[in-house]
Amino acid sequence: MKRLFLILTCLLFVACAPPDDNHGYGYEYDEIDNDTGLRIRNFKTLGDTAPTLKDVAAQYLAITNCAGFSKVTPGALVIIVDEILYDENGYRVYGRYYYEGATALISTLDNDCIICVINHELMHHLSAINDASNDHSAPQFSYCI
Ligand SMILES: [Zn+2]
Repeated sequence: MKRLFLILTCLLFVACAPPDDNHGYGYEYDEIDNDTGLRIRNFKTLGDTAPTLKDVAAQYLAITNCAGFSKVTPGALVIIVDEILYDENGYRVYGRYYYEGATALISTLDNDCIICVINHELMHHLSAINDASNDHSAPQFSYCI
């Protein structure tokens, strides 16, 4: 009887545990850069204007060097979305970075500089993995993106 209770309790926890869906965006990606671990998804939805993974990785290394950071891995997951994004305070934003899941969302809506927003969100990621300030007033946000 005690064993049955333990099994049922375990099943209940598995059934009730929230799925790790990465804020509803999942972890799938279309391409990965093996040197940095950067992963991209939905870039092809941008058509001819889409930066390539090679472009994104080169920018990522450039802003890493500019900031004087040493860690580039693990790379972030960068996802292009065609939805309006809001920050944690409810303000509309063009990009959003989730520390948990190391995921950057980049909105295509009214966004005339996709790579600028990607660099901004990746600076949040780099600041986090290099234990630096993630405040927008930190020098790397002024001088490197
Ligand atoms: Zn920011």
